[in-house]
Amino acid sequence: MTTTSAAADGNLFIVAAPSGAGKSSLIRALLERHNDGSMQVSVSCTTRAPRPGEIDGEHYHFLDVATFQRKIEANAFYEWAKVFDNYYGTSRQVIEDTLKKGIDVFLDIDWQGARQVREAYPQAQSIFIVPPSLDALEQRLRSRGQDSDEVIRGRMAKAQAEMSHYHEFDYLLVNDDFADTLANFEHIVLARRHRMALQQTRHATKLKDLLANDG
Ligand code: 5GP
Repeated sequence: MTTTSAAADGNLFIVAAPSGAGKSSLIRALLERHNDGSMQVSVSCTTRAPRPGEIDGEHYHFLDVATFQRKIEANAFYEWAKVFDNYYGTSRQVIEDTLKKGIDVFLDIDWQGARQVREAYPQAQSIFIVPPSLDALEQRLRSRGQDSDEVIRGRMAKAQAEMSHYHEFDYLLVNDDFADTLANFEHIVLARRHRMALQQTRHATKLKDLLANDG
């Protein structure tokens, strides 16, 4: 008997965190552990300038404001938000096409985008990552460059503003130990992949075979 699986949509995961909590590293590490094409991270569009080392099309699609606004008008974004003076958005087409292929998608977005995605796609699971303490966060932000105290204070305030929305999310990860946090992140993702409704679709033929009357 064949056990071919029926098509089932991939899972959509929203991941938010204040800058410095380790969000990007955690997503990257999870994707490295599952490099079988079963999951991918969405590449957002933004109007902010590329940082040193950032590659267009890989870290972001870097757009000018006029182009971004045209995309808003064309309803090309799954969600979009203005975050700290710059526009950020997730392309609708890519997300929908990827989910249809059965691939899990991670959205690395802020709380405003998370709200929009929850409304549009209630099945999405959302994960919020916090640092273990404000001191640890400040240390991480300071270790990134030689920014002035004033710049660091501004980043800390932005981080706290983002963190004030933690309770809107389904899961909370405290990133104290990276390996532990990664393991917990992976557990959330893998549990979601095995939920009944999805498994029933994925393994429809197998389940039919298992329940067949062979007499
Ligand atoms: P950064 O400029 O440091 O890369 O990102 C700043 C913030 O914008 C982060 O919280 C990041 O998650 C968020 N962000 C990145 N891409 C998107 C997006 O497509 N939509 C929304 N709503 N936020 C995004």
